[in-house]
Amino acid sequence: EARKIPEHFAYYRPSMSQERAEKITLENDLYTAIQDNQLVLHYQPQLELKTNEMISMEALVRWKHPEKGWITPLDFIPIAEESGLIVPIGKWVLETACRQTKELQELIGQPVRVAVNLSIRQLFHENFVQVVRDILKETELPPEYLQLEITESMTMDTSYMMPILNQLKETGVTIAMDDFGKGYSSLSYLKDLPIDCLKIDREFVRNIEQTNSEPIVDLIISMSKHLNLKVVAEGVETMEQLEYLLNSECDTIQGYLISKPIPFCNIAKNLKRLREE
Ligand code: C2E
Ligand code: CA
Ligand code: CA
Ligand code: CA
Repeated sequence: EARKIPEHFAYYRPSMSQERAEKITLENDLYTAIQDNQLVLHYQPQLELKTNEMISMEALVRWKHPEKGWITPLDFIPIAEESGLIVPIGKWVLETACRQTKELQELIGQPVRVAVNLSIRQLFHENFVQVVRDILKETELPPEYLQLEITESMTMDTSYMMPILNQLKETGVTIAMDDFGKGYSSLSYLKDLPIDCLKIDREFVRNIEQTNSEPIVDLIISMSKHLNLKVVAEGVETMEQLEYLLNSECDTIQGYLISKPIPFCNIAKNLKRLREE
């Protein structure tokens, strides 16, 4: 015989928003995503302007959901962060990025660096530094070919962050500050953070027009030079933006103009093609 649904369930269900229900479903599905091989890394090449060389790339995670199809990180990383699943997912991303980059280096016979995005919860999880050390050892990727991307908001609590960043630096990896300009970095401690690179948020790159100057971009680049940091411009989509950046002291660009993020199986031939262009 059919069981009667208790009244309070019947009461709560209609009031549960669609969005909330969807989130819970995604969270449940995300638990098995790693073991079911549903997570995939795509790689977006970065072009070094001075040498015109493609020597680095950013790893970006995607989720191939069995029913819903491709899901963007913007839709599942927040869920992963909230639920704590970001810890195993982040570890999988690091491991996969290091392993595939090592493989790519051997395939093309040239060094390539990979940049991997970190979440605050992952970074503050116990043993994160050891996890990085273990992965580097196990994948045999030399540490200088791994760049870890953090964001400004992650460095708000400097007393907590400094020792971790310093320990990471001791492993030999480099650290980039992602989405720079969007957050609220205090300039006084920016110079004390053990970072190597600033990535200009694409919001500012978008503002570049052919004739106009773009003061925020100029400011970030000149600040980077004073602090002895490399600078990457993100989200470069047009020739106008490229020309503007070529006339600045920007070191590296990344964006659809050069390439969209692409699957690992295509990155080797794309890097070769892009390097030959
Ligand atoms: P992000 O780190 O700022 O990554 C750059 C985003 O800009 C990527 O979106 C990339 O596909 C997109 N992009 C690149 N070039 C262009 C361009 O020319 N124009 C435009 N409009 N967009 C461009 P994606 O892959 O959807 O990733 C979104 C965000 O998700 C990332 O932003 C990052 O914050 C997060 N994310 C991605 N992968 C990971 C990961 O493995 N771990 C963590 N914690 N976060 C990740
Ligand atoms: Ca990034
Ligand atoms: Ca970014
Ligand atoms: Ca972003």
